Amino acid sequence: MSKQLFTAETRALAAQTRQLAGDPAAILAASGLDLPEKRKAAVLARLREMPAFFRGTFLRSQKPRPNPKVSIRAFCQMCLAWADVKTGVRECTSLACPLYTLRPYQQE
Ligand code: SF4
Repeated sequence: MSKQLFTAETRALAAQTRQLAGDPAAILAASGLDLPEKRKAAVLARLREMPAFFRGTFLRSQKPRPNPKVSIRAFCQMCLAWADVKTGVRECTSLACPLYTLRPYQQE
């Protein structure tokens, strides 16, 4: 499941976010997302919280019609506060979480 998510688009976004790693506002502007102002502020605040590595997946989850797998991945990454994500999600102990059976990183 996880390998399918790293598309050329994800890699391009990741490369772009690495180049702009220090400036979340520039990353958001370069993403091409056309968000209402209220949402844009929330997305920008979230971008500022997370390590640069996770920003590409997060931005893909903010598209008008994102791939649900990308949204689930982004949510699980956020749930783990972007720390030790693969192991944390794979060994998730929140067995009643509605995303538990859909969570990424279930296999090596
Ligand atoms: S499956 Fe686990 S890691 Fe993912 S959102 Fe639920 S509790 Fe968090």
